[in-house]
Amino acid sequence: MSLSDILQTIRDEEARVGRDVGATRLIAVSKVQPLERVVAVLEEGHRLFGENKVQEAAGKWPDLRARYEGVQLHLIGPLQTNKARQAMELFDAIETVDRPKLARTIARLADELGQCPKLFVQVNTGEEDQKAGVLPTEADAFIAECRDLGLTIDGLMCIPPVDEEPSLHFALLARIAKRNGIDELSMGMSGDYEKAVAQGATYVRVGSAIFGERVYG
Ligand SMILES: *Cc1c(COP(=O)(O)O)cnc(C)c1O
Repeated sequence: MSLSDILQTIRDEEARVGRDVGATRLIAVSKVQPLERVVAVLEEGHRLFGENKVQEAAGKWPDLRARYEGVQLHLIGPLQTNKARQAMELFDAIETVDRPKLARTIARLADELGQCPKLFVQVNTGEEDQKAGVLPTEADAFIAECRDLGLTIDGLMCIPPVDEEPSLHFALLARIAKRNGIDELSMGMSGDYEKAVAQGATYVRVGSAIFGERVYG
């Protein structure tokens, strides 16, 4: 599908469920994609991108930012504390705040740098061992802890289990956000972004549907 087809699908779904058309932003997930595909999407005018590794993003985005104005970059993969500084300098949003140690590190660096990206808390809605994120039952306390550190939590993010109905996970994330007074919801990928829009996503993270399958070298 083309970028414009996906944007149209999102707008159609927003209209169908009675949401404001344009309320959902599309994060083009460019990880692992060949540079020419990323450049093609930039040339189409798209400016919001997601990467899951700090190192990989650091290798391509400073140059692309210099060539294209208005790029916004979200970190959507796990963040080690020893890469937090680099991530805070590189990304406009970190969607994967998921543990007290990382929150404390970000708070300290925010003071030092005098700036902080937008922050999202990742919630492990499926309570999967192999997945990052705070457990749904621990989310309220963790969000409160982040706020006590002086951090602003702009949104929540989740990656549902592959073998479960994603809408249930999206609805759960939306409930946790609502009761904590959080507006942004990053949820939905190539296979389920329409369902995420229906559940109130304000960001969907779409990779392969835009760029084609990722080929890992
Ligand atoms: C890779 C990735 C995506 C995009 O996945 P697609 O299925 O290619 O759309 C979205 N979110 C996260 C966290 C990812 O790591």
